[in-house]
Amino acid sequence: MGGVDLSQFLAEGENSSADGDNGVVGKLEMNSMRVNRANPLPENWTIEKSENLYRIQGWGEPYFSINAAGHVTVSPKGDRGGSLDLYELVNALRQRNLSLPLLIRFSDILEHRIERLNACFAKAIARYNYPGGYRGVFPVKCNQQRHLVEDLVRFGKPYQFGLEAGSKPELMIALAMLDTPGSLLICNGYKDREYIETAMLAQRLGQTPMIVLEQIEEVQLVVEASRALGIEPFLGVRAKLSSKGTGRWGDSSGDRAKFGLTIPEIIQVVDQLRDANMLGCLQLLHYHIGSQISSISVIKDAILEASKIYVELAQLGASMKYLDVGGGLGVDYDGSQTNFHASKNYNLQNYANDIVAEVKEACQERHVPVPVLISESGRAIASHQSVLIFDVLSTSDVPTDLPAPIEEEEHQIIRNLWETYKSISVENYQEAFHDATQFKEEALSRFNFGYLTITQRARAEQLYWVCCKKILEIARQQDYVPDDLEDLEKIMASIYYVNLSVFQSAPDSWAIDQLFPIMPIHQLDREPTERCILADLTCDSDGKIDQFIDLRDVKPVLELHPLKPGEPYYLGLFLAGAYQEILGNLHNLFGDTNAVHIHLTPKGYQIEHVVKGDTMTEVLSYVQYDAEDLVESIRRRAELALVEKRITIQESQRLLQNYERSLSRYTYLSW
Ligand SMILES: *Cc1c(COP(=O)(O)O)cnc(C)c1O
Repeated sequence: MGGVDLSQFLAEGENSSADGDNGVVGKLEMNSMRVNRANPLPENWTIEKSENLYRIQGWGEPYFSINAAGHVTVSPKGDRGGSLDLYELVNALRQRNLSLPLLIRFSDILEHRIERLNACFAKAIARYNYPGGYRGVFPVKCNQQRHLVEDLVRFGKPYQFGLEAGSKPELMIALAMLDTPGSLLICNGYKDREYIETAMLAQRLGQTPMIVLEQIEEVQLVVEASRALGIEPFLGVRAKLSSKGTGRWGDSSGDRAKFGLTIPEIIQVVDQLRDANMLGCLQLLHYHIGSQISSISVIKDAILEASKIYVELAQLGASMKYLDVGGGLGVDYDGSQTNFHASKNYNLQNYANDIVAEVKEACQERHVPVPVLISESGRAIASHQSVLIFDVLSTSDVPTDLPAPIEEEEHQIIRNLWETYKSISVENYQEAFHDATQFKEEALSRFNFGYLTITQRARAEQLYWVCCKKILEIARQQDYVPDDLEDLEKIMASIYYVNLSVFQSAPDSWAIDQLFPIMPIHQLDREPTERCILADLTCDSDGKIDQFIDLRDVKPVLELHPLKPGEPYYLGLFLAGAYQEILGNLHNLFGDTNAVHIHLTPKGYQIEHVVKGDTMTEVLSYVQYDAEDLVESIRRRAELALVEKRITIQESQRLLQNYERSLSRYTYLSW
């Protein structure tokens, strides 16, 4: 009851004390009940409550937080000062005619991530007196956008940070973009003769392309190309570890994994290279046990096995120099610091420490010089830098207005529902839920048999929702919610229609149920009173988000603020910088979103690049429609309709103008 001013009721009670004690008490109760319903408790919502609710410190530190105005702020340089108000930034970008949905990339965050990864390895190397170095690479597949790869190469220069290519087109990118002396270019993926020759010839340009053998057949191609070109290549082998990954990408390791060589195959490679007098070219051991490894014990098992293989290869006569631990470094999407799939139970420093310590021990045991360590961390570098901002277009709620009182002559089923509604209390709310559900189902089947009119069915359904609402209000007050009531939140959730395509902007949310933190970027000083699921613009029932991060497991609804007419409501989807852009697809022909690159300056920020999203003409061209042909077809039909007097000249002009204008527009909704 905190904060409710009871004095006016007491005063009223005192005035009517002549009615006797009972009257006073009765009146007081009645009044306070009325107040509770019509005029909810004054808000004592705080920004801290929003922080806890959306867990922003868990997943957002040190980049995202909430300011006193209740807006999300971004500190792109981490704790090293300088922050900007995300809500104001979005307003400023909208004034520059950049419509939502809008992808905002903070290049300083990218720089900070690279610095942190390198700093953690440097610290671990110092701590364990590791006599080797660390030279990371960025796997291009994680985000191939040119501006981002350019930034990465630039920010990585002080650390000789390189690139990893997993396909021929990615090799084309890496070869042309990487110009850091001494950095590595790791060549993974399936390779043909052309791939191998190109990589080898790049040595002549001063690059260090490491050709990682993933298939036995590649050995012969490499030997032949080397002879033909007279180039001694830098070679690596990718091992299929038998230590099992866990989680979603757990199958990337193990004996039946798609990539890499089994131990007998690695021995075969060594023999073939020795026969070709090329064993000296073999310098690198690589493995990749999958992405988003949430448990540190899995990482430890893998590095243990890999260091043993490394040492053995050195003793077999290969000129081993590098150990490449692949990707897998996780991102804490739900901020729970657990081994849940959307989280990880270790930090960057633990990761670096364990790798460095394990490799050193394995090498020292067998008196083998330690390798230069390489990691191919993609997700951990690219996720944080981009935020997708989108707006809510409208909402839909289940109707929970109390219907007019039920008359004697109403259908029995309706009267049953009404009785159930009246009886709901803390003592029986679970039972009442089952009763209400059963009556509603009965109503439905009677309707289908023709015994209930559509008006009666409407009344029955309305009563059912009203029951659910009352039961949910009681259930929310309880410490423990019985399992069978867990769906109630989902049943009663508001649907918020958002200006976005899940398939284009968060495809992993649809494809593999990946969780991303989602929250409003303003109004955070106010209580989000609605419980919602998000529905996107596509006509696909999968185009929705109904799982949200939570401290324990996931929650089925997201707390949001009620929409205010005429006022935009902005949501942010965070940590979306890895994989989503390239996996995004054109379902329903919603195209690429607008994207901007923001760089923090001493005076504020600077918009470095604006990458306009697809227009309708562009997406239509991807499916082989020519905009001019389409316009011509509409024009011809309008002419015909004019001749046949089915359309006026004004109408036909209006139609054509709309049609042509649309073609040059963004594929998302604007207002
Ligand atoms: C995908 C991939 C990576 C990147 O993995 P993350 O988990 O994003 O760090 C690294 N190496 C290889 C070989 C990959 O296939």
